[in-house]
Amino acid sequence: MLYYSLNKKAPNASFKDAVIKGLAPDKGLYFPETITPLPQSFFEDFDNLSHSEIAFEAIKQFVLPDIPENILKQIIEETLSFEFPIVELTKNISTLELFHGPTMAFKDVGARFMARCLGYFNKNNTKEVTVLVATSGDTGGAVANGFLGVKGVNVVILYPSGKVSDIQEKQLTTLGQNITALEVNGTFDDCQDMVKIAFLDNEITNRIQLTSANSINVARWLPQMFYFMFAYKQLKNTYKHIAFSVPSGNFGNVCAGMMAQQLGLPMDHFIASNNENNVITEYLKTQLYQPKPSIQTISNAMDVGNPSNFIRIQEIYKHNFEALKNNLSSYSFTDEETKEAMKEIYNTYNYVADPHGAVGYLGAKAYLKNNPEAHCVFLETAHPTKFLDVVEEVILQKQDLPPQIQAVMDKEKASIAVNTYEDIKAYLLA
Ligand SMILES: *Cc1c(COP(=O)(O)O)cnc(C)c1O
Repeated sequence: MLYYSLNKKAPNASFKDAVIKGLAPDKGLYFPETITPLPQSFFEDFDNLSHSEIAFEAIKQFVLPDIPENILKQIIEETLSFEFPIVELTKNISTLELFHGPTMAFKDVGARFMARCLGYFNKNNTKEVTVLVATSGDTGGAVANGFLGVKGVNVVILYPSGKVSDIQEKQLTTLGQNITALEVNGTFDDCQDMVKIAFLDNEITNRIQLTSANSINVARWLPQMFYFMFAYKQLKNTYKHIAFSVPSGNFGNVCAGMMAQQLGLPMDHFIASNNENNVITEYLKTQLYQPKPSIQTISNAMDVGNPSNFIRIQEIYKHNFEALKNNLSSYSFTDEETKEAMKEIYNTYNYVADPHGAVGYLGAKAYLKNNPEAHCVFLETAHPTKFLDVVEEVILQKQDLPPQIQAVMDKEKASIAVNTYEDIKAYLLA
């Protein structure tokens, strides 16, 4: 499989090159040249397939032959070593829990998959690769955990100071070894912009091989297709009209869901559920794409003012606005509405949702108003204790910390404070 740059001014790249480069030399995101649908019999047979078997069939066309079949199977097996349960709240609403991995956010799967791919590509390579990544909260921890100890790979994480939760900060600043956290005096958008500038800075790229582990990297992005298939496996015998409400920030997750649908996954509709960072909600209303500075909210992993995967979504729908609108709805909710939803979910269903999941729940309810026949799955993208302060304040219940989180709480934070791009450059070149 070859990947082309969505800016169309760079040579095509193999999977290996796309993973190692992250972003194409013309600054474009990579996109697969072809998407070959899988036979319907594959989806009908889900009852007889394991998660790993489903995942292998789904992703192999995008990865082979750069990674041989047997290695790819092993990478998938290791990546998916935890559960992806569905919890049904009503006959119209379920949640897919994507927080059972080591850092308790859905990004674990993409980070673990990518780390293993890069580890494979790099195993005979003497030149180190530096993964440079910006995080609005959960990417940092998932990437740090996924890449910890991977030989030949250094990880540098940029995070906005004071704008991630305590647990998120612990997860990305306490591992040591090949992981460094740069604490940026700025917003997530600032962090993301600085990463983009570094990728275009010849003084840096001539000296070190940089790659990205944000969802712009195809190896981070594509494995997220699996979630939608795992949900379908669990619901297909009960519900005919499945829709997915995806709490969205950079829109990598929902865009991966759209790839699963392109592969033939039988489903009805996507809902991109947003907090007040509502660029896409507005776009679907007005057809005007207007990036804005991000606003800080209680669902901080979605505080994105210029979603990087939107361009991939445009490509999937061949820039046809009506086609996109037929398959994607988007709603935006305030923090107050989100807190009310957390209370409602707790009081009505005795279920504790994190703020991101609660935004997804609100999106599901909004969609069901006009589509009462649907069964809407909202993705629970993080464990509620990652947002302990808000969750406890809203539902007035003390939460027990799961072992994965307890393990980082007592560790000492280690970060390097940075103010400007020049500081980051100096660090990278030192
Ligand atoms: C990253 C993240 C999101 C947003 O996912 P995107 O793929 O960027 O749209 C939502 N919820 C949580 C908890 C996250 O960590």
